[in-house]
Amino acid sequence: MRDFVSDHRWLSLNTATVRKQGDLAAIIDACARHGIRAIDPWREQVAAMGLDRAARAMRDAGLDLSGYCRGGLFASDVARRGEVRDDNRRCIDEAKALGAPCIVLVAGGLPQYSRPGSAVSKDVAAARAQVDEGIAEMLDYARQANMPLAIEPLHPAYAADRACVNTTSQALDICDRLDPQRTGALGVALDVYHIWWDPQLMSQIDRAGKDRLLAFHVCDWLMPTRDILNDRGMMGDGVIDIKRLRAAVEAVGFAGYCEIEIFSNDWWAKPMDEVLRTCIERHKTVV
Ligand code: ZN
Repeated sequence: MRDFVSDHRWLSLNTATVRKQGDLAAIIDACARHGIRAIDPWREQVAAMGLDRAARAMRDAGLDLSGYCRGGLFASDVARRGEVRDDNRRCIDEAKALGAPCIVLVAGGLPQYSRPGSAVSKDVAAARAQVDEGIAEMLDYARQANMPLAIEPLHPAYAADRACVNTTSQALDICDRLDPQRTGALGVALDVYHIWWDPQLMSQIDRAGKDRLLAFHVCDWLMPTRDILNDRGMMGDGVIDIKRLRAAVEAVGFAGYCEIEIFSNDWWAKPMDEVLRTCIERHKTVV
């Protein structure tokens, strides 16, 4: 297992962690101040800055990317299929321009939440079938662009609104169906917040192996959790044995960035420098 105690060279910041404190330009500056050498930016932050300007700012700051957030939201009604396809193609083009190593895919839940305005459905099995089809279609374009896609399974509490891919096993089943040769074009983004509770987790990490493990996200699960979306914990403040999970992904060969992704009303209320200082300290002590 890599030594994180002496430096934070493998720390990446998911830019949503401090999105309320500043825009992408301010976040890039703050990363330079704190010696953070990688980020995973969100599409809306990049759009607000302008794609070319964002790409240049990251290059000038010497920043690596650990992913690009996010593609997906595949479930929709028939009228919105074209929107889903075009939106995800644009996401690939942006990720390419930014030099991202992969796109994080959030599958989408039921159509009316995944793509608002879609006809109401209660058929989660149909949504899952659409996710399969949507990823297959996106994968064709992604392969041409040489841009890997990382399916992020989300905690089952998000099945209706955000993602009906809810376990690592389910995400890997999709990978095996669509990329049986394990070409590297399709894999998973494992976020400890979403997967820590899964009794099959360790065997599924083994099953994923190095070639399917495209990203690793950390934060913590607070007790109690007051808001399922925006009350994620700082690493060390909750119940997740993060070191054990990092050891498991590294045991199968994962050697990429450990990406901190905290959506938290509490942490969004603190100054950006304080949040980043705390992230670095916890990265050294509990990740
Ligand atoms: Zn994540």
